[in-house]
Amino acid sequence: MGYAKVLSVGLAGVAGHLVEVEADLAPGLPAVIISGLPDTALHEARDRVRAAIVNSGQKWPNRRITLNLLPATLPKYGSAFDLAIAVAVLAGSGELPPVALDATVVLGELGLDGAVRPVRGTLPMVAAAARAGHTRVVVPAGNAAEAAVIPGVRVHAVDTLHRLVAHVRTGAPLLAPPTPAPAGTPPGPDLADVAGQPLGRRALEIAAAGGHHLALLGPPGAGKTMLAERLPSVLPELDDEAALEVTALHSIAGLLPPGGGLLRRPPFQAPHHTATVPALVGGGSGLARPGAVSLAHRGVLFLDEAPEFGKGALEALRQPLESGRVRVARTRGATEYPARTQLVLAANPCPCAKPSGDADCECTPLARRRYLGRLSGPLLDRVDVQVQLRAVRAAELLRTDAAHESSAAVAARVAAARRAAADRWAATGHRVNADVPGPHLRRPPWHLPARVTADLRHRLDTGSLSARGYDRVLRLPWIGISRNSFGQEILRPHAAHLGRLSTQSTS
Ligand SMILES: [Zn+2]
Repeated sequence: MGYAKVLSVGLAGVAGHLVEVEADLAPGLPAVIISGLPDTALHEARDRVRAAIVNSGQKWPNRRITLNLLPATLPKYGSAFDLAIAVAVLAGSGELPPVALDATVVLGELGLDGAVRPVRGTLPMVAAAARAGHTRVVVPAGNAAEAAVIPGVRVHAVDTLHRLVAHVRTGAPLLAPPTPAPAGTPPGPDLADVAGQPLGRRALEIAAAGGHHLALLGPPGAGKTMLAERLPSVLPELDDEAALEVTALHSIAGLLPPGGGLLRRPPFQAPHHTATVPALVGGGSGLARPGAVSLAHRGVLFLDEAPEFGKGALEALRQPLESGRVRVARTRGATEYPARTQLVLAANPCPCAKPSGDADCECTPLARRRYLGRLSGPLLDRVDVQVQLRAVRAAELLRTDAAHESSAAVAARVAAARRAAADRWAATGHRVNADVPGPHLRRPPWHLPARVTADLRHRLDTGSLSARGYDRVLRLPWIGISRNSFGQEILRPHAAHLGRLSTQSTS
């Protein structure tokens, strides 16, 4: 028999699709033809697979070999089909039983020596196999831990083609996946380490509670980075669905820690201001690598020294921040990744980055405005919470009497506020305050009493606040719930924030 078929998985974004790898061996001049929209890496599979088969002590059939990957319409990327191709060729040439690895999904890249190497995206590929009803997968030993995260799938790991061939022929055991890491996330940076900065801490808490983007403006030493790094520690842990999605994205980027299970902590990404557009939004050859904005999906994207980022880079972030998804343009169609992230911008008040009030700062007011102006417009317009921090004073830093509140204490309040918000907006389909459209908040039953918004309306009238800025401020007070004299739940606007945490007009 000159025909064999092995199952594998191809990725389109985070979604995986079952791929049938067919091998047909016919008499004729020895040649290998690959069809089914392969990319360069997949074209090169013929050389890798041939070398791996020969160096594993198996016979390479000197026949005309046609490899076809179905469905033909789905573009196939990368080297993850190597192992499936090798099994299909060996089964087609009679070296292995024709039904070798029937109903088993096979993933893995081959080295020339026959070693099975890890591939990016194993977790979403195994998830796709499970969704398609397949319960047995063979994966590279290096990816076994992430594959084992998917429930209801028996994971077999291989380190060499030789081991897989021996298993099919004699039933020799494959490798067992490592026992998954114990549940629970290792502790990250904690708010207890942050001295002073009551305004910064408050802004962080409100941003966490409402899912708002946050801008921290202030001189070096104001603790902007310290605060931003601690935002994930006060956000709710990722639920199963979100954790799977986030872990899948990190799997596609090849960034999962070895032996780790699902990522439960909201991810934190802090790209440098020299980062390229592909590094921020995704790109690269073969299977597109998710960019920082997707690796920060359901977590935090921190842009330190934000005005230093290139204009193109800031521009490229607009669309993902708006839609929660990012489209990575490819030569063979676009790839889409989720990118629902909370943005934290940090900026010095002026380009020289001297401490505030420093006599050495010679920046003109115009230079300062220009500097921050790089952030303005569409990007800063989406940032609901913008605060001006000052440098931490020695007295605050050295205070030993007051214990600083820990992340756990703040996280408990954030979780309560988020539960209240989910209830409050349930009928509108929104979950967090940041998602609620402005017009909604200006209408009953949510519109604020006139005395509360007096200052805001004055700012709007005098042009120090834009209409969009007005709506942004309206989203912030909805963080408390209390009961009126009839026992009905009413919103308790925190009017104090309207002035202090308000937004400067940027337009
Ligand atoms: Zn300056």
